[in-house]
Amino acid sequence: MGKIRLLADEIASQVAAGEVVERPASVVKELVENSVDAGARRISVEFARGGARLVRVVDDGCGMDREDALMSLERHATSKIRTAQDLAAVATMGFRGEALPSIASVSRFTMRTRQAGADSGTEVRVAGGRLEGVEESGCAPGTEIEVESIFFNLPARKKFLRGEETESARIVHQMQSLALAHPGVSMTLARDGRRLWQAPSTDDPGVRIRDLLGADFFARLLAVDEVEANGIRIGGFISKPGEGRPDRELQFVVLNGRVVHCPAVFQPLREAYAEGLPKGRNPLAVLRIEMDPLAFDCNVHPAKREVRLHRPDLVRQAVYAAARGALEKLRKPAVPVRRVEVERESPPAPTPQPAAMALAPAAQREIPVVVAPQPAQENGIDFRMVGGLGGKWILMEGDDGLVIVDVRAASERILFERLRRESASGSAPSQRLLLPEVVELAAKDAVWISENLEPLRAAGFVVEPFGGTSFKIEALPACLAGRGAAGALLDVCETLRATGLLGAGQPALDALVRSVSRIAALNGFDYEEGAARRLVRELLACELPYACPQGRPTMIQWSRPELDRKFGR
Ligand code: ADP
Ligand code: MG
Repeated sequence: MGKIRLLADEIASQVAAGEVVERPASVVKELVENSVDAGARRISVEFARGGARLVRVVDDGCGMDREDALMSLERHATSKIRTAQDLAAVATMGFRGEALPSIASVSRFTMRTRQAGADSGTEVRVAGGRLEGVEESGCAPGTEIEVESIFFNLPARKKFLRGEETESARIVHQMQSLALAHPGVSMTLARDGRRLWQAPSTDDPGVRIRDLLGADFFARLLAVDEVEANGIRIGGFISKPGEGRPDRELQFVVLNGRVVHCPAVFQPLREAYAEGLPKGRNPLAVLRIEMDPLAFDCNVHPAKREVRLHRPDLVRQAVYAAARGALEKLRKPAVPVRRVEVERESPPAPTPQPAAMALAPAAQREIPVVVAPQPAQENGIDFRMVGGLGGKWILMEGDDGLVIVDVRAASERILFERLRRESASGSAPSQRLLLPEVVELAAKDAVWISENLEPLRAAGFVVEPFGGTSFKIEALPACLAGRGAAGALLDVCETLRATGLLGAGQPALDALVRSVSRIAALNGFDYEEGAARRLVRELLACELPYACPQGRPTMIQWSRPELDRKFGR
């Protein structure tokens, strides 16, 4: 006898739901996309307990009549495509008719919907895929969907949900993506009864970015003028050189209104920066790409997160050209370097400040290469200071030839080791702010910060929870004194988040200290021999003097034979 049976409808739905509904954030995505497809001008989203207890999406879109409301819960019931040809050129967010039945099969689901002009609306209740009731309802025009107790009937799936904070953070990130993709739709997001943000409708994508991610984030971006090549139109915003982060979480690619994961965009975008970004960093981006819907297939991923481009090469070229164009507009004329002889001054009296901080920031445009006289012995290594170069490097004559010290890398190494020593013994100097600053963080960052209050304190940050995702900063590590407290904490969050190190303990503390030293390190300097000498001395006294904490070299050497060879001797 045959062993193969058709699954009961209910089980088949639950199996299929696994593809579409991974977690509460995917419910948010599907419902909001439906609202966008329904022509909504306003969408409000609310969730409770990381979305596990409740996700509610309310829109003012076209609504449905009673028949469609019931039909929408049937598998493969959609109003958006009819034929196979339609599938090749999808212009809506949804098209498979899977989301509502999938969601309703794994939750307690309530839909209230009413068409504009209709006398009344319809309420449909479904629990675990079973229709529980259909009633007339006096609801407002549009559609309201409540998804409660997700996976209540699938304990095994429920176990795979992460903690409340993680699931909340995913919803927040998902909503950010959706709101960035649809600036014309007014959106609000509330968590556990408290509004997290509100983004009014705008026709300026820049305003939407500022509303969602804040003015500080926006200030780190550069506009990409819209360009069109081979039927591909690209515009948006990318980060300024030097900005960036270790992951791609803040790279939003919006392809024909859909936020997608698109390697064909990431790689050329990164390449456009060339040396303008340190290794391992990724630019921030909100890029909008428009092209013929026939030029890609969005029916390749269960959650429609990925697309298959028919000509990825053309997209790569277009992204590279657009990003390059934006970056080249920034480029300043090269800094002239001239060689001058200066009279040797006696070295200034040593200041109580650590050497890494004693060099003044670069202010001059013309940077003299100072030719200094006398050999000196530091830590058993003979070197003679030759001068400064480009506001970035110290040139020295060593035993074996020319040594070039990178001031930034050196100062990062020195600060890192000092701060690590101090924080391990709980004595990192910390500077109280005159007025405590309150900063509101993204949900995800707030989790990291609350779990790392102890390491933060050890590193000199005195931070206290201030309700919700807000924190009060009372003191900063002394080496960050004079900087914006909120900005410094946000920068620290970025590094912490990237390393994924949670909780207290040495790894979290190391990650923190590394990020603080990166922020505090010197970017440039005006060469002054005494200060340069102190910097080199401190560097050579480090445990690992030859690389900065991110692994970049602090000094390189050109030996005499190498120089001879270069000059053809
Ligand atoms: P799809 O979006 O792929 O068509 P769904 O299961 O998400 O499939 O939705 C099924 C149908 O229900 C949609 O095609 C649409 O006609 C209707 N629908 C869903 N959500 C809404 C909404 N918020 N407003 C109006 N109609 C909706
Ligand atoms: Mg849909």
